[in-house]
Amino acid sequence: MPLSEFQLIQRYFASLDSAPQVALGVGDDCALLELPPGEQLATSIDTMVSGVHFPEDARPEDLAWRAVAAAASDLAAMGADPLGMTLALTLPDANERWLQGFAEGLAKVAEVFALPLVGGDTTRGPLAVAVQVMGSLPAGSALLRSGAAAGDRLCISGTPGDAAAGLALLQGRWQPPQEFEDYLRQRFYRPVPRITLGRSLREIASAAIDVSDGLLADAGHIAYSSGVRLAIDAALVPLSPALAAAAGGQALQWALAGGDDYELLFTLPAGVALPAQCTVIGAVTSGDGVDCLDSPGIATGYEHFRSGGQPV
Ligand code: ADP
Ligand code: MG
Repeated sequence: MPLSEFQLIQRYFASLDSAPQVALGVGDDCALLELPPGEQLATSIDTMVSGVHFPEDARPEDLAWRAVAAAASDLAAMGADPLGMTLALTLPDANERWLQGFAEGLAKVAEVFALPLVGGDTTRGPLAVAVQVMGSLPAGSALLRSGAAAGDRLCISGTPGDAAAGLALLQGRWQPPQEFEDYLRQRFYRPVPRITLGRSLREIASAAIDVSDGLLADAGHIAYSSGVRLAIDAALVPLSPALAAAAGGQALQWALAGGDDYELLFTLPAGVALPAQCTVIGAVTSGDGVDCLDSPGIATGYEHFRSGGQPV
């Protein structure tokens, strides 16, 4: 007998909702969350469609991780503390093996990033996963895209480009030396939202964004919102040892234009110390747009609905 929607929710999605801030979790018409006094709610949603945002043969555990991590990355980019999430799941059928794997992945990522699953929606249709995240931060303290000023340094966390290389590997478009395969696949399927970093940047950075569409494209959003020019020095962009060794000249292309890294790109006023595992890659000047020195022929990041954009 196929599972009813109610049974499916009870079996797989009803038990991840306990946390002190959850006054009421799964089971009623709405969940109720406590917001600390004086704090604002930060909320964002991300949808991932099979064959567009992840390969059709993705493992359900990996899919759960990537969907939640991508959504949580928006909280990181605002400097918000995680409060909880909801999940809208569209499934072609109630395949219990798939659901078991997905629920296990979900439980893991929910715990690691302190995001109790407080509700959602379950419908039938082509496989798609939408995760809405909620977070909180002291009123007026959010890290916006609009605060960069001439004289600030442009910085990035981690090593961009690995996820794009991982995707090229998964899609059979590129073959790295075998010793790098696992690392690069993980970087696509298991991105780590920089929540702790984002929280610490709340006090010191002038602007921030998470890199989902590609470093250059996302830099463009800061430049536009802040009304400044960003000058990136391509030689300063940090590459992981795997990417640098494996991908040769393609490495910089992926680092600048590949998406899906979920690292934080941010601007720091002069005199503020650079946080650990972050690198200065350029400067904020007056003007507009993004300048990338020493990068002839680099395409910008993938934009949805742009004709000719290559779906992942
Ligand atoms: P409603 O019809 O009031 O929207 P539903 O029957 O869709 O409620 O869902 C019942 C309860 O189960 C609600 O609390 C809802 O938030 C929760 N829920 C539904 N689908 C999911 C899911 N995939 N993950 C977590 N909670 C879910
Ligand atoms: Mg209802």
